[in-house]
Amino acid sequence: MSSLFQNYARRPVHIVKGQGTVVTDDKGKNYLDFTSGIAVVSLGHAHPAIVGALQQQSEKLWHISNLFVSPEQEQLAAGLVQDTPFGQAFFCNSGAEANEAAIKLARKHTQKNVIITFEQSFHGRTFGAMSATGQEKVRQGFGPLLETFRTIPYNDKQQLEAAIDDDVAAIMLEVIQGEGGVNQLDPDVAQAITAICQEKGILLIIDEVQTGISRTGTRYAYEQTPLHPDILTLAKGLGGGFPIGAMLGTKVLADSFGPGTHGTTFGGNPLAVAVAQTVTDIVFQEEFLQEVKSKADYLIDKLQKTLPQDDFTIRGAGLLLGIECKDEVVPFIQQAEDAGLLLVQAGPNVLRLLPPLTVTISELDQAVDILASILVTNTSTVS
Ligand code: PLP
Repeated sequence: MSSLFQNYARRPVHIVKGQGTVVTDDKGKNYLDFTSGIAVVSLGHAHPAIVGALQQQSEKLWHISNLFVSPEQEQLAAGLVQDTPFGQAFFCNSGAEANEAAIKLARKHTQKNVIITFEQSFHGRTFGAMSATGQEKVRQGFGPLLETFRTIPYNDKQQLEAAIDDDVAAIMLEVIQGEGGVNQLDPDVAQAITAICQEKGILLIIDEVQTGISRTGTRYAYEQTPLHPDILTLAKGLGGGFPIGAMLGTKVLADSFGPGTHGTTFGGNPLAVAVAQTVTDIVFQEEFLQEVKSKADYLIDKLQKTLPQDDFTIRGAGLLLGIECKDEVVPFIQQAEDAGLLLVQAGPNVLRLLPPLTVTISELDQAVDILASILVTNTSTVS
């Protein structure tokens, strides 16, 4: 009998090491990791730069808390907000914590309580983030949730307009709903959100926990939209595998998070910050972003040529792609694993592809070959 709570439906594979895109199990079998630990391992496994950063920092200082100034946090914050509408950053340890901070900041600053969120969204498992999440399966069984979230259909301009009143503090959304099915925000709805926020003085919180830190080919996914966020949340890829989250906010919000208003013991821990600094130094470089874009274009093109369009729909951006299938995808995930490709689902019938941003073209080719062998019957050649 396991001593663990059985809250995860774990697959019976014990991964013991990883290098780049490839991970190895305890029996010596190799897999292409197209999960990246659910969009986390942005630089692949055991990237020498982040291994070195962690080793160096671990010999200097592990933890000191936020009782003291931190030039290292200052530097990381300055890099994250550079060339953005944001002025300030707050560091925490996870995506849910970043969203909790965002919810608190929006409510405190506006002195209003209602936050509009969307069906199929995912914002995390803590009480505030769970209440914001528009998926019944995440919320059920936990009793009354926070009442002031108004959850409406994604990409429905009319329902959005109808949900706005004087009690609304913020609209909170993902530009691409990662967990909810790799659903993309309609550009028309994005325009409408921008207009509503500007007209009514409503804050816009964008949850980029999954889409941020170069995953979609730009530093942040909102840069590819007409949205003007006031608050942005990050985690996952920021630490490349070391836990760290962040909330960015515009300068006008700074006074609402003064001393004593919010905090966390571990947030911005020296080890996490050293790793995140190294990750962002690499993944924010223009050439790196261009490579993510060209690898994504290559992968999308190859998938579109390989998978019959009547049966499969490819969507997403950058290296956050979904393949919508007619059938439930759990059996495909098992078959892919047997063939040496690790995948994760996004809803019942969407396969999610989340390779490390450092994936090679030859690894993309291998992954598409495996997908073709599983998804396309009688596939003879995949070039
Ligand atoms: N927000 C989004 C968009 C996510 O995809 C996730 C996790 O999948 C979260 C928030 C929660 O992040 P964490 O699991 O680090 O709390």
